[in-house]
Amino acid sequence: MVEVTADQVLAALKSVQDPDLHRDIVTLGFVQNIRICEGAVAFSIQLTTPACPVKDLLKAQAHQAVSEIAGVTSVQIEMTAQVRGRAASGEALVPQVRHIIAVASGKGGVGKSTVSVNLAVALAQSGAAVGLLDADIYGPSLPTMMGAHDKPLIKETPTGVKMVPLTCHGVLLISLGFLLSPDKAVVWRGPMVASAVRQLLGDVTWGALDYLIVDLPPGTGDASLTLAQQVPLSGVVLVMTPQKLAGEIASKAVAMFDVLSESGDRKIPILGVVENMSGGVFGHGGGQVAATSMNMPLLGTIPMDSSVCAAGDDGVPAMLASPASEAAQAFRALAAAVAARVSVLTYESEQGVPTST
Ligand code: ADP
Repeated sequence: MVEVTADQVLAALKSVQDPDLHRDIVTLGFVQNIRICEGAVAFSIQLTTPACPVKDLLKAQAHQAVSEIAGVTSVQIEMTAQVRGRAASGEALVPQVRHIIAVASGKGGVGKSTVSVNLAVALAQSGAAVGLLDADIYGPSLPTMMGAHDKPLIKETPTGVKMVPLTCHGVLLISLGFLLSPDKAVVWRGPMVASAVRQLLGDVTWGALDYLIVDLPPGTGDASLTLAQQVPLSGVVLVMTPQKLAGEIASKAVAMFDVLSESGDRKIPILGVVENMSGGVFGHGGGQVAATSMNMPLLGTIPMDSSVCAAGDDGVPAMLASPASEAAQAFRALAAAVAARVSVLTYESEQGVPTST
């Protein structure tokens, strides 16, 4: 009988490429825990995000490659994920959060909050630990959209008094709305916004998170500035509607994030564009045009769908209320694209080189 070796398995797996990182899965360190018992081969593939869009493809290719080794009678692959991030950097405000992803828009009413909520739920459903921070001073709507009726508990901890986030649909939630009394109108001035955002990051028991999604107010004001200055953002997802004018507003927002980058100590990457309410009264395709003109990826296209709106009002995001709908599928694809983009940028910064070269 031909004896199969771990070196043969690794050599075969070198033929399997991660299409986003442009490296083979052995070089990337994804292949782990190889066990060989006569012709039976078992191993794990550890991806950089559980929301990996090519998980099934990589598994199938790895299976095929190892099956072709002479003497192999069975192949068993366990797919796991470990989100890599900057957690080890010991960053002060949220030391255990690997990636902070801001969801922004040039103007209000484009579905930024709806996208934030469904993106968070989709990432959580893939198996990631996810938090959602509602920093929209003009209308903190996430408690309603997530069906949160309680207020967070306040807890004494060794590092001070902290808020305990609510858990809604598998996502940890904190909203600026929790800090306000509903009957009081607030006129937010810059320093107040800055201190509220700092509080929502640092005075909350977020715990270990793979992704913290931050729903920013529209435009790029004080909340964005505080985020940019206080924490290393993994990137910004820009939501827009499909019209041409929306693209112009979106590119202004991108230009403003570039200006904000200069006030922090590193560049804020824009992960890409989401076209929301596609196919409705606004038509479709503007997202791709805007993405191309700004030289960034189109991360997703979410259809106009009245059930998305109804789901938000009912406190059960469309991802869960109608999981088989076209909109839910689009949100899942968006989450996969965002997670993949973050993985690529993390890998590039670890290696100090762009993966495309
Ligand atoms: P923003 O945060 O940009 O102000 P919201 O997420 O609050 O926008 O969305 C504005 C309105 O549009 C809400 O009533 C929401 O339910 C609705 N909406 C958002 N996305 C969609 C969609 N894809 N299809 C239908 N209605 C949507």
